[in-house]
Amino acid sequence: MVTPRPHAGSGALFERARAVTPGGVNSPVRAFNAVGGTPRFIRSAQGAWLTDVDGNDYVDLICSWGPMLLGHAHPEVLAEVNAAVARGTSYGTPTEPEVELAEEIVRRTPVDRVRFVSSGTEATMSAIRLARGFTGRDVIVKFAGNYHGHVDALLAQAGSGLATFAVPGTPGVPTSATDLTLVLPYNDRAAVTAAFAEHGQRIAALIVEATPGNMGIVPPEPGFNAFLTETCRSAGALFISDEVMTGFRATAQGGWGLDGAVEGWTPDLMTFGKVMGGGFPAAAFGGRADVMSHLSPEGNVYQAGTLSGNPIATTAGLATLRRAGDEVYAHLTAAGNAIKAGITDAFTAAGLPHRIQSAGTMFSVFLRDGEVRNFADASAQDEKAYAALFHAMLDAGVYLPPSAYECWFVSAAHDDRAVQTVLDALPGAARAAAA
Ligand code: PLP
Repeated sequence: MVTPRPHAGSGALFERARAVTPGGVNSPVRAFNAVGGTPRFIRSAQGAWLTDVDGNDYVDLICSWGPMLLGHAHPEVLAEVNAAVARGTSYGTPTEPEVELAEEIVRRTPVDRVRFVSSGTEATMSAIRLARGFTGRDVIVKFAGNYHGHVDALLAQAGSGLATFAVPGTPGVPTSATDLTLVLPYNDRAAVTAAFAEHGQRIAALIVEATPGNMGIVPPEPGFNAFLTETCRSAGALFISDEVMTGFRATAQGGWGLDGAVEGWTPDLMTFGKVMGGGFPAAAFGGRADVMSHLSPEGNVYQAGTLSGNPIATTAGLATLRRAGDEVYAHLTAAGNAIKAGITDAFTAAGLPHRIQSAGTMFSVFLRDGEVRNFADASAQDEKAYAALFHAMLDAGVYLPPSAYECWFVSAAHDDRAVQTVLDALPGAARAAAA
């Protein structure tokens, strides 16, 4: 039996936060609504560890939802960031780190040109505008369970039939924003073929996560991304691969490193975020030179940003990517494998149904048996059991994502001690979840 850790300080801050911020948080999942209880307010972080305002330490399996590839407060990254801060924090002019980070992204991925923005949402929004401007068409295709940020046109739910247009996924999104969006079941070639047969001439772009991670990890079936690329090409639509989560994390080349680099196809446009900002607000979209040249000021598709390419954010991203070599990805794989083996042992012993799915160094855990191929499969899991698992892990010093639909992120700083802490916590938590 694990004793709950004291969290009066987090509780008091949560009360104050709720008085001045909707739900007390600045991004919904942080509020613990899916698991209940009080979100822990974090005061500092070092390596693989978070410390909350009550002085509790936790092994961090959120890693800021992906960005902290090297771990928190990496001394060399901090040194470069601090030196950049001392030179001034924003100029509103072109800078050298922007060029260097763009060169690094072009080196690792199949994009020819890159434009920086400040969030993944901005990246996907801008990529879609560019695709519409380039093709002169207006329809966008996306998949259920794929998240591309809170862009109006992409906060859409499937309409009544496979090839019918979507309806808004939240109040506040007008139907006019989603009635040019088609939402299809993921990994379903027949649905894609049907949608393109009916609307192909109007489709500007299809956007898809390189390997979906926002319904838990649901890998593309072999050849699915290649099929999407080919389908788009034959219809004159652009293929946008959203690598905001997978970019520079699933592999050194992102999700594309798992299939496109091997099979020899390239997306027309890609979006990036998270790791490439090194923990700062930075994101990007990029792609074929002939498409990107339609962007202002070279072309006439307008796009801009006061803090785009900010020198601190690009310095942090560059400092992170320059240290993200083979040994880092090998470490993520080893740490992930150790935790996955611990999950299998503990959950099996406790009789807790589960399914682990992976994409390169990334993995997630579904509390259900059997393969998860799409959002309907992902939704059929035991969310109550996850809430029990989450709280038992938290009380044992492991901060899991407070939702059953997220990846469990590790970093290069997840050393033996951090991994062992997770392994020690799993059996008791699995028993609590199975109870
Ligand atoms: N695209 C994907 C695949 C994401 O995972 C996310 C965020 O989790 C986004 C886009 C949106 O990025 P941001 O939260 O930086 O706006």
